[in-house]
Amino acid sequence: MILTDIHGKSPALSCRDAIPTSNSFKTSNGDGYRVIRSRKRRKTISLEVKDDGQVVVHAPERMPDDLIRQFVYEKRDWIAKTRIKIADRQKTEELEKTQERKSDGEAAYLTPEELQQLYREAARVIPGRVAYYAPKVGVTYGRITIRCQKSRWGSCSAKGNLNFNCLLMLAPMNVIDSVVVHELCHRKEMNHSKRFWQEVRRVYPDYDAAHGWLKEHGESLLIRAKLR
Ligand SMILES: [Zn+2]
Repeated sequence: MILTDIHGKSPALSCRDAIPTSNSFKTSNGDGYRVIRSRKRRKTISLEVKDDGQVVVHAPERMPDDLIRQFVYEKRDWIAKTRIKIADRQKTEELEKTQERKSDGEAAYLTPEELQQLYREAARVIPGRVAYYAPKVGVTYGRITIRCQKSRWGSCSAKGNLNFNCLLMLAPMNVIDSVVVHELCHRKEMNHSKRFWQEVRRVYPDYDAAHGWLKEHGESLLIRAKLR
């Protein structure tokens, strides 16, 4: 590891040379962070999450690597939350353009490969969300199936088998969670009664906002998969 430029003869080099420190630390989703050391008299350390999810640490020139690593570690929850927030915003922006592009005949349809990728992502993410919320609802469940379909976002069978639409992966995280909670609550109430909705809102108080997003953008999700 070459650290000659860490005191900043060239800002570009000093920041590149700081990259190896990130190899010894992984943030929760597996990648590292980049350190930019200030040549000015910066006394504080700050974090920035870029639009591509990259973490950049702005640190005082002489702050030891250990302290920087510790700081990033302590902020890992904030980093994870901020990354989700950024991804959610990007998903919404992308979908807001979809309706428009469809009427212009240039909709950004998903390729078969992208659909496969969504399917894999759903199979990786959704079972984790179900496992997280099931104890909160206080229910068990059976098999989880992921499908790409135009008729529904999720369903729950009498036996407790759950089915989720892979297109949900194009929606913000709170939308995915709201559908998961909705289906899990059907393990208690196999209907849409008042008791059912009370249970949904007890477990997921933000349900209406998430459902509102789905109402507004659901059509665009289907367009992107060429299901509309
Ligand atoms: Zn339902």
